[in-house]
Amino acid sequence: MIMKFIFLDRDGVINKDPAWAGKDYVTSWEDFEFLPGTLEALKNLTDNGYKIVVISNQAGVGKGLYTKEGLYEISGKMLDKIESAGGKIYSIQYCMHKNEDNCDCRKPKTGMFKNATKDIEVDFSKTYFIGDSRRDIEAGDTIGCKTILVLSGKIKDGKEVASWPIKPDFIKKDLREAVKVIIGGADV
Ligand SMILES: [Mg+2]
Repeated sequence: MIMKFIFLDRDGVINKDPAWAGKDYVTSWEDFEFLPGTLEALKNLTDNGYKIVVISNQAGVGKGLYTKEGLYEISGKMLDKIESAGGKIYSIQYCMHKNEDNCDCRKPKTGMFKNATKDIEVDFSKTYFIGDSRRDIEAGDTIGCKTILVLSGKIKDGKEVASWPIKPDFIKKDLREAVKVIIGGADV
């Protein structure tokens, strides 16, 4: 049986973009605040049999703004909260490189998608990538996913998308609304 995957960005999708705390990166648990409805949306996906994969650029580690250990600590606390609410995350992929490192994983490249699904048959055309930035939409499109831009992070107005060479398949207010596209219940 082919496993059903959903790929998600983290900052601006699961939790508030760190701009809320006046920062470029979530550098500590104090900067991490779940967006409204996120925990329910993740439970909903889990209950519907989806394997949830988080795909997140965290160049702040490469820049020395926080450590890998610090990132894992934030992740662990995030997972505790998600699991207490009934959700389950299958895999978390972080790219800690800087742009100039020219790695294969930093979005819009697709290394993290491949890494999370190594040795597993995935029909990417039947999966979604939900993100809050142009880079997310480009990464999702390159790997062959359907893409959903949520307006809960960096971009507040869907009109901006008009100038993008690669456009999302859907634009939704937040993760809760995006999940309705995937499992039904939305006017799409
Ligand atoms: Mg983001």
